[in-house]
Amino acid sequence: MFGYPEFRSPQLEIINALSRGDDALVIMPTGGGKSLCYQIPALLRQGCAIVVSPLIALMQDQVEALQQLGVRAAFLNSSLDLSTARSIEQDWLDNRLDLLYVAPERLLQPRMLALLEQVTPALFAIDEAHCVSQWGHDFREDYLQLSELHQRFPDVPRIALTATADARTRQEIAERLKLSEAQHFLVSFDRPNICYRIALKDNPRAQLLRFLRDEHMQDAGIVYCLSRKRVNETASWLADQGFKALPYHAGLPAETRADNQRRFLREDGVIIVATIAFGMGIDKPDVRFVAHLDLPKTVEAYYQETGRAGRDGQAADAWLVYGLQDVITLRQMLEQSQGSDSYKREEQHRLNAMLGLCEITTCRRQALLAYFDELRDKPCGNCDSCLSPVATWNGTEAAQMAMSAVYRTEQRFGVNHLIDVLRGTENDKVFQNDHHHLPTFGVGKALDARQWRSVYRQLVARGYLSVDVARFGALYLQESARAVLRGEVEILLRQDPKTSSAKRTTKNA
Ligand code: ADP
Ligand code: ZN
Repeated sequence: MFGYPEFRSPQLEIINALSRGDDALVIMPTGGGKSLCYQIPALLRQGCAIVVSPLIALMQDQVEALQQLGVRAAFLNSSLDLSTARSIEQDWLDNRLDLLYVAPERLLQPRMLALLEQVTPALFAIDEAHCVSQWGHDFREDYLQLSELHQRFPDVPRIALTATADARTRQEIAERLKLSEAQHFLVSFDRPNICYRIALKDNPRAQLLRFLRDEHMQDAGIVYCLSRKRVNETASWLADQGFKALPYHAGLPAETRADNQRRFLREDGVIIVATIAFGMGIDKPDVRFVAHLDLPKTVEAYYQETGRAGRDGQAADAWLVYGLQDVITLRQMLEQSQGSDSYKREEQHRLNAMLGLCEITTCRRQALLAYFDELRDKPCGNCDSCLSPVATWNGTEAAQMAMSAVYRTEQRFGVNHLIDVLRGTENDKVFQNDHHHLPTFGVGKALDARQWRSVYRQLVARGYLSVDVARFGALYLQESARAVLRGEVEILLRQDPKTSSAKRTTKNA
């Protein structure tokens, strides 16, 4: 029916469990093949399977794909007019459907519940099950009520699926959906063929160009940017450089978007320059690289976006450049967003985790997998840290100087001014604030401005310093800075390369 020569592990076990009536909780990375796990049991078991899915666009894609295979599938959501919805309901009642996709808010309406009483479902599949988690940003009130399904239909097996893996979310899903009896299936998040590379942004366009010219001249790939403006600019610039580059973001006409997406899927060597709007449901196996010109907001986002590379199992690159300005921009966006204080705090933690991944000097894959609670005892050998070990230096004294400059200037100034103070630069701003009389003035001449910038960036990334976006990027001290200033902690810093290309040459630490 589906045309695959074999199952991917552990699809068969899941299909067996569900088919014999057991519950299952499936944690599998995006692209791993979750849908098959309920689609086959839906065909094997008596009656129609109900699939709860929060994303209308994906629902439609899946149903169309199933119909093309000859599976009797349909969906019910707010995009349908009343008569279409009624005729689908009739098909369902008349036993002419194998799979029915339903939006969560619709499933729990009295009308639907009454219909469910008439035709016992083959199973319930709850996709994107992490939406029950109040911690995640995908939280959906409706998902909480899905536990009712179990109370009303205790004999119908359920499968909950998600790509969000951390232990806390997993536990929440099991609790909230009353899946205490469910078998858990955890699939590794490792994508061994993806080489992770993260470099310091100094001249992003030149860096990207070098990366593409040296390593991906004819390849299909995705370049992610944060804003639509940057997407447009980057796409036309890459086109000027001779690449088949096309923009993709929510601000483009639907036709253009569909067209560009089609070309990306069908033609060889197309580069899509996109905001994160691109990628949901895109399934192109031979994407050879994913490049980020801006820092993703979370490790989850980074993993998802980079995960679109190398689905065919062949070598692929996940390439990212970032700088302190990225952190400031993302913090600004977060401050200006609508969320509650606790939401903002949570997002700040997530951003810090992403920064941590950028700044570590050890294996990226180990850190990435550890974030998803998957521990590896060996470095991977296929990331920039492993391939070209980073030199570190004892930055304890520099960190103390950097932080005392922040303290002495009353935590009111940004990086550039702090560096002027440390390096003893005599300029108007220094004189106006009387900073040339501070004890820290000129104590940092041994390092140049670029090196100081690197020190500050790493101190921010490690949470010793924070950026006050309301005050134009002023740095202020965090509680943890105290121990450093007292000399109680040793600080090892990355030695930033002079030119920040991440070449695959091995150099000694
Ligand atoms: P997920 O929901 O986990 O992101 P999907 O169910 O959409 O993943 O599947 C991702 C891709 O993998 C799809 O293109 C699907 O056709 C393909 N796929 C799933 N199972 C298999 C299999 N056993 N063999 C080959 N391809 C598969
Ligand atoms: Zn590694």
